[in-house]
Amino acid sequence: MKNFFIIILIFVSCTIAQTNNGSVAKNTLMVENHDTIPSGAKKLILSYPALNLKYSDNYIIFPDGEKIVYDDGRKKGFIEQLDDCDIEDMFSMKYDTVSMQPKYLNDCGRGRSEQFFKKVYGKSAAEVSANLEKVNWFSQQIPMTKINGVSDTLKIIAKELAQKPHLKKYFEKSSSFYWRQVRGAKRLSAHSYGIAIDINVANSTYWLWANKNKSETDSIKYANKIPLEIVRVFEKHGFIWGGRWYHYDTMHFEYRPELM
Ligand SMILES: [Zn+2]
Repeated sequence: MKNFFIIILIFVSCTIAQTNNGSVAKNTLMVENHDTIPSGAKKLILSYPALNLKYSDNYIIFPDGEKIVYDDGRKKGFIEQLDDCDIEDMFSMKYDTVSMQPKYLNDCGRGRSEQFFKKVYGKSAAEVSANLEKVNWFSQQIPMTKINGVSDTLKIIAKELAQKPHLKKYFEKSSSFYWRQVRGAKRLSAHSYGIAIDINVANSTYWLWANKNKSETDSIKYANKIPLEIVRVFEKHGFIWGGRWYHYDTMHFEYRPELM
């Protein structure tokens, strides 16, 4: 009888040890997998849950199997990083919501992986247009993409801003979708994807207007007339503001939750 109890005891101890070892090994594996995903890829995956993205072996993978290289491994200068931006490059700068003036050459969000944005929002004006929805924006109808809930998010922003009637003049003559390249560059503007809105140009500043003939790497003067209470409403809902760029464009807001 005594021997029988010893055998039972040994059997139970072995089972507990196996379970512990098994779960420890499993947890270690999960931590390892989690940690091998670069932080930019994690932010992208978490910021666009509707896209159901995955990461593996330097690729961002879409549910249809299409893969986009995360990091092309190339070292780039300031202009090259804007013109030939991979997903990793999009996260090379920090979106700074604290400084009242952008730091030298901090243009976080001005770089976009064209391959990623075309895949998500459309590869042509016609493809993007197929997903546009008109949003009531003060006295206007502003087309924005329905993808990733961008048009719905702009509706919420419009509602919140409408509660501040003293700001109304900033929203007149706004514009949004326009398939075009960035002024003076070959890359597509965020307006091409239906994710950006320009508010009233009359109250806006743009780096080249106040710094004529300056190149992109020159040191420039900053100017802004857009109240921060407008900026904060957009930012709360995942839109970045062009007024936070060293190469400022203060009328410009763009849906980029991965950078917030
Ligand atoms: Zn704009």
